[in-house]
Amino acid sequence: MTEAGTVTLVGGGPGDEGLLTVAATAALRSADVVLYDRLAPHSVLSELAPHATLINVGKTPGHHPIDQAGIEAEIVQHARAGANVVRLKGGDPYIFGRGSEEVLACHRAGIPVRVIPGVTSAVAVPATAGIPLTHRGVSRLFTVVSGHVPLTEPELEHLAGLGGTIVVLMGVGTLPPLAFGLQRHGMEADMPVAIIERGFSPQQRTTIADLGTIVQAASLAGVSSPAVIVIGRVVELAFSGDLGATELMQRAERVAALG
Ligand code: SAH
Repeated sequence: MTEAGTVTLVGGGPGDEGLLTVAATAALRSADVVLYDRLAPHSVLSELAPHATLINVGKTPGHHPIDQAGIEAEIVQHARAGANVVRLKGGDPYIFGRGSEEVLACHRAGIPVRVIPGVTSAVAVPATAGIPLTHRGVSRLFTVVSGHVPLTEPELEHLAGLGGTIVVLMGVGTLPPLAFGLQRHGMEADMPVAIIERGFSPQQRTTIADLGTIVQAASLAGVSSPAVIVIGRVVELAFSGDLGATELMQRAERVAALG
């Protein structure tokens, strides 16, 4: 019988090759098979994984070429045949990436599996748009939420009362119930909101409005997925190259005074 291979779940970061870790690059270099996602950095994959068979299992919203069970079966099947399998995922494998389900599937099949963390888009995409998730005196906590399905009333109530910064992934489709729900539970209509689409690509774009106007602004701009939504006073700090240091410092002081 062939000796079983191994499985490595690799966090590929938010789409920029420069944000792949050294460990991720090493795992790709020695991979026999790479199963990759739509949001994983795949443009240079044939160079990064020169010996590997590359398999696209990418999901686009509403269209799933291979379902989750199919992906897990394929991972296990290649490992059983003796391959070193890399499962390359966008961002970090354990942030809304179903990584833990794939690890469980390997455990169930008795296949050795390890996880290489990645730079999550929840943090990196706001950063590349110049938005700090925390800033002394403005925000000392951030909450990362999946907008895949609308939040429940108790979740909206908690979130509206928590303070700090809210980061939403997969939230473009559920933006209206989120924005209206947070306001219904007392969040101010003038709370700043930023939507950053296609971070780290040439098409990266940031739309900024406030909670009361963001739904209309997003619709006018034709905002689409993938995008990261940031709700919080830190959005006012959006550090862009064209602002001078003095103006930035004044802004930070003004925003801190509001909080
Ligand atoms: N595990 C991933 C998240 C998977 S969920 C991570 O840690 O980043 C997929 C969502 O991530 C997308 O709907 C979008 O909200 C966000 N996302 C991932 N890459 C992105 C990018 N380059 N630009 C904007 N949003 C991105």
